[in-house]
Amino acid sequence: RKEIQLRLSPEEAFDERRFEAAVCEFAGLDAVNDDVKIRAIKRSIDARGRKVKVNVTAEIFVDETPPSRITATTDYPSVSKGASVIIVGAGPAGLFAALRIIELGGKPIVLERGKDVRARRRDLAAINKEHYVNPESNYCFGEGGAGTYSDGKLYTRSKKRGDVRRILEIMVAHGAREDILVDAHPHIGTNKLPLLVSKLRESILQAGGEILFDTKVTDFILENGEMTGVVTADGERILGIGVILATGHSARDIFHLLHQKSILVEAKPFALGVRVEHDQQLIDQIQYHCSTERGAYLPASSYALVQQTEYEGKQRGVFSFCMCPGGFIVPAATSPGELVVNGMSPSRRDSKYANSGIVVAVELEDIPSQYQIHGPLSAMMFQADVEKAAWKSAGSTQVAPAQRLTDFVNGKVSQSLLDTSYQPGLAAVNLAEEVLPPFISARLRQAFKGFERKMKGYLTSKAQIVGVESRTSSPVRVPRDRQSFEHTEVSRLYPCGEGAGYAGGIVSAAMDGERCAEKLMEKYGK
Ligand code: FAD
Repeated sequence: RKEIQLRLSPEEAFDERRFEAAVCEFAGLDAVNDDVKIRAIKRSIDARGRKVKVNVTAEIFVDETPPSRITATTDYPSVSKGASVIIVGAGPAGLFAALRIIELGGKPIVLERGKDVRARRRDLAAINKEHYVNPESNYCFGEGGAGTYSDGKLYTRSKKRGDVRRILEIMVAHGAREDILVDAHPHIGTNKLPLLVSKLRESILQAGGEILFDTKVTDFILENGEMTGVVTADGERILGIGVILATGHSARDIFHLLHQKSILVEAKPFALGVRVEHDQQLIDQIQYHCSTERGAYLPASSYALVQQTEYEGKQRGVFSFCMCPGGFIVPAATSPGELVVNGMSPSRRDSKYANSGIVVAVELEDIPSQYQIHGPLSAMMFQADVEKAAWKSAGSTQVAPAQRLTDFVNGKVSQSLLDTSYQPGLAAVNLAEEVLPPFISARLRQAFKGFERKMKGYLTSKAQIVGVESRTSSPVRVPRDRQSFEHTEVSRLYPCGEGAGYAGGIVSAAMDGERCAEKLMEKYGK
């Protein structure tokens, strides 16, 4: 086996035949044949120069069968007789926690308020077409959590590369394409995620774990400072050796419940802003330096922007978040009477739009003073009010408030709006006056001007902003001990994933699920 590094054109990197030919030429081999096998192990696009290049690490096998890329399998031990561990929430954190509990000999009982991936689809159609938001089944709630009908970008900044690789391998073992192990910015796509999620479910069930859908946790069972179980909306009491609470950042009822029960929660800085939508072709032209189309081989281009801004003497970052090339803006509210947007894209990333969240970092001192009465829930209540204002501003449906980008920067209501990927539709609204607090809109304006300096053509009347992007991270933290991962005051309770404040994305939530499972089994699983 030999490993080589190459700098290829997009055609050579992404067309299998040309790739093999380029590698053979570089390595002085005649051609790929029965004795010679080639595959890419790392691939990243470099669009900094005038000509886009792709850096590839390839491996060549001569007279040798390439070994499997993964060690993960779908063979899990049977745990039907193992000790029950309650996992609340079947998002990435909950599902990966369940698989790890199984590996360690416990029996996971996953409780999920929403429906399975297939039944969920109907509720998503109802949001888009009838503007009806089912508070138990929507883009955030249901099997696979917010990660199912998401974009499926699997990139994480985590430095724990071994742990990241493990999660990606488990995904491949459950049907994801091997490319996610190769690409620097792996992506699955919203069309492929439901199958992956249902295969994760099959593994859990086959091993003897349980997953109960339509099962909302509405109370906790506490005895002498320990959480010994939960109560569901039907009044059923479910007991276990511990509770992994992986309910995501949108389960406001859970945050209220924790607070009511005097279980310590804390307000947490979060981020708030809008989603911006451009023509994908414009973004390609800026990023790939091309005058027309990006060509057949390059994927739809993305961007990552950040800008420091100043308002009333305070510096705050404004940054792009969850950029979705070739994607769609989706209505991600979890209750009637609120409007929240997010983004997703199919695996081919072939819609004509590029969208991205553009959000302002909100520190606790920025939260308007009238929210202080809510104590640790102050940031959450502020977030909720902005979402309500967005809903009202555009006519109290899932039609979203929107403004052309230049109009927003110049403080004008748009006379007309552009076509959009956002299915429920848009209405022209002055977002700065009707939806966003001044400290958010002023910073967004500064940021858009700064983005124009970094990406010429970005600040254009041919782009529009859509409000509001408010669920990028949890506004509440459920504190846990750094070593044991248990809640700082309640034993056997493991706050987990994005909702508790320990993850920001699919892969990091999955990793946190695994860690919580390990800590719980280490202490109580013997
Ligand atoms: P969640 O996925 O939020 O799961 C929590 C689960 O708990 C939900 O299923 C919910 O129904 C359930 N639950 C809540 N309350 C209760 C209760 N009381 N009883 C029982 N169950 C309950 N991240 C990326 O990394 N890449 C992306 O490309 C990406 N795109 C996204 C696109 C969209 C449209 C959205 C909405 C999110 C996207 N995200 C993306 C974010 C990602 O989905 C989340 O970071 C991740 O899902 C968090 O995982 P989690 O398991 O911590 O929580």
